[in-house]
Formats: sequence, C-alpha cells, structure tokens
Amino acid sequence: MSPAGGFGIYVHWPFCLAKCPYCDFNSHVRHQPVSQEHYAKALATELARYAEMVPGRTVDSIFFGGGTPSLMEPKIVETILNEVARLWHLPDTAEISMEANPTSVEATRFAGYRSAGVNRLSVGIQALDDKELKILGRQHSVSEAIQAVEIARKTFPRISFDLIYARPNQTLKAWEQELNRAIDLAADHLSMYQLTIESGTMFQRLYAAGKLEMLDPDLAADMFDLTQEITAARGLPAYEVSNHAAPDAQCLHNLIYWRYGDYVGVGPGAHGRLTLEDGTKLATSTEKHPETWLGLVETKGHGAISEDRLVRDEQGDELLLMGMRLHEGIDVPRYEQLSGRQFNPQRLLNLQENGMVEWVSNTRLRATQTGFPLLNAVIAELASD
Ligand code: SF4
Repeated sequence: MSPAGGFGIYVHWPFCLAKCPYCDFNSHVRHQPVSQEHYAKALATELARYAEMVPGRTVDSIFFGGGTPSLMEPKIVETILNEVARLWHLPDTAEISMEANPTSVEATRFAGYRSAGVNRLSVGIQALDDKELKILGRQHSVSEAIQAVEIARKTFPRISFDLIYARPNQTLKAWEQELNRAIDLAADHLSMYQLTIESGTMFQRLYAAGKLEMLDPDLAADMFDLTQEITAARGLPAYEVSNHAAPDAQCLHNLIYWRYGDYVGVGPGAHGRLTLEDGTKLATSTEKHPETWLGLVETKGHGAISEDRLVRDEQGDELLLMGMRLHEGIDVPRYEQLSGRQFNPQRLLNLQENGMVEWVSNTRLRATQTGFPLLNAVIAELASD
C-alpha cells in the first residue's frame, strides 16, 4: 500500500570532504575516517523503528542525500538497501537515487553503487567554469566533472545535474552558454538553484563584511526567465520551480515531498512525514550532530528529537507550500479534506483575475508563469481566511 502522494525513504549521509562556503545543509568535515559500519548499523536501527510505525508499505523511492553520500562505501549502500527491502516491499520499479560529487575518486565508486541497486545519480556539478568552482569552494574541476558525467551516463539509467546560477558577476550571456553546455551533457533532469546567502555560512560572513557582492535581483530574475525558456525549448521543461526534466524523467522522490506524500527520514538531521494507521500525520526530525545522533541511536534505539502530530491546519499549509511549487499544481479536494478549510472565493478570484493562478482541471489549481516568481505571496493569499 502507498499513501496519497507516495511513500519514500530518505537516508542522510552527513559528511563532506570540505564545507562549501554557501552551504547550510547538515554537512560536517571529519579529518579522521568515520566507521561507516557503525553508521550503517544505526541507520538500520532507525529504519526498523519506522517500519514498526508504518508497516507493510510499498516503497516508491529511496534517496541517499547529504552531505556527500558518494563518500559511502558501496557495500554500506547495499546493506541499507537490503534492510529497506527486508522491512517493507521494495519493488524493482522503485527509484533509488544518490547524490554524488564529481571528483575522480568518487567516480570510481559509481559501478559499485549501481551493483548495489542505485538507478539514478544526481551529480553536484554546480558550475562549468573552473574559476567559479573555486569560488564556490568545490573540490572538483570542470574536466573532472565531465569525466564523472561520462562514467555516470554509462553506469546509471538516469542522471541529473545540480547547477547554481545568479553567481556574483555572472552575466546573462555566460549563464546562457553554461546552461546550454550542461544540457549538451545529456542529463535527463536538471536542478538549478539561484545562489542565495544562507545564515551561518562563510558567504554570509563575507557578505556582511562587504567582501561578497550578490547579483542584482533584476538580473537574477532575468536569468530565471531565461532558464525556463532554454530548458523548455530543449525538452527539459520545469515541473517544479527549480527542477526541469525530460518526459518521464521527473524525480519521483522529490515529487513525494511536493505531492505531500509520506517519507521516512533516517540519519543525522533527517526529516520525515508519516501518516499513521489512525490517520495521524507525524512530522519527525532527528538530531543533527552526527556523533550525538549515533550515540542516541546506540543508547535509545533512535535519533529522533521531535515527533509532532500535525493538526489539520498545519497539514493544509504544508500541502499548499509544497504542492504549489509544482507545475501540475495541487488537488484542491485533497487540500480541503486534509485542512478542513476552503479557499476564500474572493481571494481566489482576485488571484485568477491577476493571472497568478489557474485551474488545470475541475480539481487542480496551479500557479501561472506570472505567479511563480511571487509564489510566497500567492500561497499566503490562498491560505488566508
Ligand atoms: S558538498 Fe554539498 S553538502 Fe557538502 S558542503 Fe558542499 S554543498 Fe554542502
């Protein structure tokens, strides 16, 4: 059985070779090797606990994220996949994704991940310019990235790239060339994020000290528009604000988040959303610090630090926040049933008349191209009484 929106498993690997200056993910650098077997055992312990809470499910997707999960030994990945298959039903059709950085060392492990069962690789290329990669603090060069992509393409049925744009001093022309070059590398999926200043990062400190200049917001908006045009023209249209894919190549795991499905989150700092048998929707999160998380799992049997029951209003807000990011929009009857509320007819009409939202069918509502850049305001309006 799969709940509405699907059922996925997220596995967080919290370690990286170095901390990128823009990154606020739960990622940590360790100068001594970590015991991967210890972590695998703890991940299996958390999985088993969640399997007791949501038993008998069919797993639609598994996602190894991080941090840098491509630092995991393939046999560790295999152990975790075997554990998922033991605890739930894992069909051959399940999407099994892994994030990977394109250093030459990590590329040597790709075949091992494929043998373990990974069928989709998401490669963190970020930029196709060596100078820019250095500014972003990345550990790979453009030529390493291209070689890693070649290997990935021969190894995995599906590959995706991550790119960061609206970087300091980037021009519209330079982004156009870089994006076209990335598409030439023949991924079936692209995730493209504008560079933003996140709190607690090195970039935030440089920005606050006046040593980092961000791109003009109007130019960044032009880059967003250009991204939509180029990807649509080249067969990878947006299906979510920042994600673009060829037909049938959308990332099922991310769709589970955006369609407000259920997902188990294991590993340090992982989040989950689980619908229990009595209909309760639970929001889970785990301890972020890796060694503390490991200690908690080993002593208490899990690393969870919160397991909150979401009231109907909260569920409605979450469904709106996630679902309105999608090109397919949201299922309005499901929103009404989950939240117990309806859109204010006058506010909805105003949004329609201003070209911000549109009906895709009798039951589905979505943001328009005009509405997407103002999505937060559109969602706030929809959620108001
Ligand atoms: S490799 Fe990814 S997760 Fe690790 S520090 Fe860089 S951006 Fe963050």
